[in-house]
Amino acid sequence: MTDSETLYCYIHPNRPTTLRCNRCERPICAQDAIRTPTGYRCPECIRSQQKVFDTAVWYDYLTAFITAAVGSALASGLVLLVSYFFFGLLVLLLAPGAGAVIGNIVLRVIGHHRSRPLFLTAGVGMVAGALPALLLVSLPALLGVLSGGFAGFAGLLPAIWEVVYLFMAVPAAYTQISGLRLGG
Ligand SMILES: [Zn+2]
Ligand SMILES: [Zn+2]
Repeated sequence: MTDSETLYCYIHPNRPTTLRCNRCERPICAQDAIRTPTGYRCPECIRSQQKVFDTAVWYDYLTAFITAAVGSALASGLVLLVSYFFFGLLVLLLAPGAGAVIGNIVLRVIGHHRSRPLFLTAGVGMVAGALPALLLVSLPALLGVLSGGFAGFAGLLPAIWEVVYLFMAVPAAYTQISGLRLGG
């Protein structure tokens, strides 16, 4: 910007300003400028950004939940099988891949619609889908611990691996669906 060129807010043409929206480059006054992590944006750009971000429709939540739950039920069944071999260490390899695959399928099912609650719904679906397998292995194991003491702890291993699976697969799926890291 040179001295000879004074900028005026495009919303308030009588207000001189030195700020520009960092997306559309139009001058905006301090009152209109909205501070974002990447710099100042004008209200119009913020609005259009939100529209792009939130494209989910109501049945997306249903299909995302069911798809994630079914995928996770299959994956947790696989985890259950794998957990009986090599101390279950293969789960560490399996879980992130399974999460990415589930995330990919969910992404197709929701037609690349986007919204943060939708991503979280898919995550909740994955937890819900893994619950039957988790309960199946943890209930007898817990009873074993209560009645048999230490011997029962070995029985807890598959249950622990199911939890490990969830902690690895859900963030992997979330990243896949949203293109963001969990919490980002
Ligand atoms: Zn703008
Ligand atoms: Zn203004």
